[in-house]
Amino acid sequence: MKIGVSGIQGDFREHKQMLEKMGIETLVVRKPEELDFVDALIIPGGESTTMIRIMKMTGFYEALKNKIIEGFPVFGTCAGMIVLSNEVVNFPQDSLKAIDIKVERNAYGRQVDSFETDVNLKFSSDPFRAIFIRAPKVVEYDNSVEVLSEYENSPILLRQGKILVASFHPELTDDVRVHEYFIEMVK
Ligand code: GLN
Repeated sequence: MKIGVSGIQGDFREHKQMLEKMGIETLVVRKPEELDFVDALIIPGGESTTMIRIMKMTGFYEALKNKIIEGFPVFGTCAGMIVLSNEVVNFPQDSLKAIDIKVERNAYGRQVDSFETDVNLKFSSDPFRAIFIRAPKVVEYDNSVEVLSEYENSPILLRQGKILVASFHPELTDDVRVHEYFIEMVK
């Protein structure tokens, strides 16, 4: 198994390091044709407008969209969640429409208001330290979307089919449990 990490923009190195720590082979992908060399993709945190703009410019958007339709597993954290969402409600921007959620950008405060808190994961008994950095909030989601974690009554980790999204940044902790969950989805 080889997991791709989108190196288009954002904190892809942290995802790569986490996967390596788990003993998983990774490839940083930037070009559409590189998607054919990996079994799944992680879209990191960063700046979603920039990511989408570059994806559209390079053909990465179209190539990834087609793969997703065929069932290609993708995990998006923070900006990655925005990129995968159906709609961004407070900002006119394009997205991949890969998961039936609507998100509000920068809903958990500005950079200076970034925070950490313990949350529960549906698939694990111990709390998980969730790091939020100008995080998107899910304001609407379809019945078929499974909520795997919540913070103050809002879903922050969600799954629909082979798509997994997190408002927070598991890649910035030492805790591999959310990444492990994704790897199980890929298998
Ligand atoms: N605020 C960023 C955006 O809207 C996301 C922040 C992050 O990924 N940490 O794209």
